[in-house]
Amino acid sequence: MRKMGGGAGGGAGGAGGIFNIGKSKATLFDKGTKVNITFADVAGLDEAKVEVMEIVDFLKNPKKYTNLGGKIPKGALLVGPPGTGKTLLAKAVAGEAQVPFFSLSGSDFVEMFVGVGASRVRDLFKQAREKAPCIIFIDEIDAIGRARGKNAMMSNDERESTLNQLLVEMDGFGTDVGIIVVAATNRPDVLDTALLRPGRFDRQITIDKPDLVGREAIFKVHLKPIKISKTLDIHKLAEQTPGFAGADIANVCNEAALIAARKNKEAVDMQDFQDAVDRVIGGLEKKNKIISPEEKKIIAFHEAGHAVCGWYLEHAYPLLKVTIVPRGSAALGYAQYTPKEQYLYNIDQLTDQICMTLGGRASEEIFFNKISTGAQNDLQQITRTAYAMVTVYGMSDKLGNISYYDPQQENSFSKPYSDETARMIDDEVRKLIEDAYIKTKELLKEKKEEVEKIATALLEREVLFQSDVEALIGKRPFEEKKPLVDDVVAEVSDAETIVTEPKKEDDKSTDEQTGNIGLAPSV
Ligand code: ADP
Ligand code: ZN
Repeated sequence: MRKMGGGAGGGAGGAGGIFNIGKSKATLFDKGTKVNITFADVAGLDEAKVEVMEIVDFLKNPKKYTNLGGKIPKGALLVGPPGTGKTLLAKAVAGEAQVPFFSLSGSDFVEMFVGVGASRVRDLFKQAREKAPCIIFIDEIDAIGRARGKNAMMSNDERESTLNQLLVEMDGFGTDVGIIVVAATNRPDVLDTALLRPGRFDRQITIDKPDLVGREAIFKVHLKPIKISKTLDIHKLAEQTPGFAGADIANVCNEAALIAARKNKEAVDMQDFQDAVDRVIGGLEKKNKIISPEEKKIIAFHEAGHAVCGWYLEHAYPLLKVTIVPRGSAALGYAQYTPKEQYLYNIDQLTDQICMTLGGRASEEIFFNKISTGAQNDLQQITRTAYAMVTVYGMSDKLGNISYYDPQQENSFSKPYSDETARMIDDEVRKLIEDAYIKTKELLKEKKEEVEKIATALLEREVLFQSDVEALIGKRPFEEKKPLVDDVVAEVSDAETIVTEPKKEDDKSTDEQTGNIGLAPSV
C-alpha cells in the first residue's frame, strides 16, 4: 500500500547496477516530479487535512511565517495503519503547494551493504535541496527510525548510521530552505525519540481507518472513472465494508470493474461490487484483518458500556465521541472524552473514572455473560489509578494519610513499607476496584435499555458524537461543575506524575479508554 511508483517501478539493480548502489536513483524514488494530486482526491480525513493545510501554506508563503521570526516545521509524522491514505495525503500536500515530491520507503534505505543507507539519505537530500521548496516523503520510517537496539533484522550499525545521517540532514538545513519531510508509520511507539525532538518530526498527525461516512466518500472518489449502473447503492457498499482502509476500497472498485468486464457488461452493477467485496474480504480474512460480526457486536456493547457509564456518572468526563471503528493496530474501538484542564482530582472523580473505564467489561458481562480480552487496556489503567489512590494520595481509610510515593526513588524493589503493609495495599486496591465494578454493573443493569440503544446505533452508524447520544438517551443529567478546591487531594506535581491524567487533545491515547500497549487488541 505504499509508494504509488510513478511508472518508475523496478528494483535497485537498474541502470547503474552494483557500482552505483549508494546513489539514490530514479528507480528508488519518484524523482521530484510535480504531482497533480490534490485534496479533492483524498476523501474524508478532514482533521488530517486541516493539519497539513498549514504545511501547504508554509511551502507557498514561507516569508509570511519567517518574516515574523517564526520557524517553519521541518517534519511531520503521519501515523496510521497501511492503506489509509498517508502517501496519498503527502502527495496531495505537494500537489496543492505545487512543489516537487520525493518519496522513498524506509526499507529502501536499508540494504545489505554497510554505508549504503546513509549515502542514500545524503543523496536524497542533495537532490531535494536543488529542487526546494519540495516535499520529501519517507514511508515506513520505522524501518530506519526504530529505537536503537530494538530490531534484530538489520545490523544495528547500518541502521544507526542511516538514522544518524537523516538526523544530520534534517538539522542541517535552515527552516527557510523549504524542504518539509513527511514520514509515515504505523508504529510511532518504536521510533527513536531523537526523531521526535523539536526541529525534526515534531508534529504527529493521526490517520484512522475510515468510518461509514468516510468509506462512502472514498467509494465516490474511486467510482468516478468507473461506468456504474444507475442502481448502484453506494451507501450500502460503505455499510458492507467495515474495517476497510481506503486502499481496500480502491481495490474493490477496481475488482468490480474487472468482474463486470469479464461478463461483458455495459456498466458495473451492485452484484459485481458485492462479488468484489467478497473477494477482497477473502484476502483480508486470510491476513486476519477483518472483524467478525459477533466480535463487532461485543465491541459495540463494550463501548456502549463506557459511554453510558460516563453519561450517568456525575464526576466522569463528558463524552466526546464513541466509535467501533478500529484505531491503529491495537484498539478495536474507543470512547473519547474531553478531559477538563485540571490539576487536582477528588476521590469522587477518580472513582467515577474507574467505574467508567470498567463499563466496557461490565457491559460485556451483563449482555453476553462472558468477558473478553478486550478490556485489557482498561484494566491496566484502572489498576494504575487505584494503586495511586491508595499508595500516593492517601485515599484509603485503612492506610490513612500516608503517601508511599517518593519521586527520588526510582527503584521499586526497595519499597518503603513492610510486607504486611504491602498486603494491605493490595487488599485495599482490590476492594476499591471490586466496589467500583459492583457499582458499575448496578448502574448498567439499571440503564440496560440505554446501553442497548447506543450499541444498536453503533452497529448501524459506527460513530456517535455527544449530540447523537443525547438524541438517543436524552441529556446528561448533570450540570458542568468546576472542581471544588476543598475537595483537593494532591499536590499538583504528584497529580501529574502518577495518575493516568488527561492530557491535551492531541496527545495520543491518554484521553481515551484505549492505548496501544498490550498483547491483544483492546476496546
Ligand atoms: P498508506 O500510505 O497509508 O499505506 P496510500 O496512500 O498508499 O496508503 O493509499 C493507497 C491507495 O488507497 C491510494 O492510492 C488511494 O487509491 C486509496 N486511498 C487510501 N485512502 C484514501 C482516501 N482517504 N481517499 C481516497 N483514496 C484513498
Ligand atoms: Zn474499553
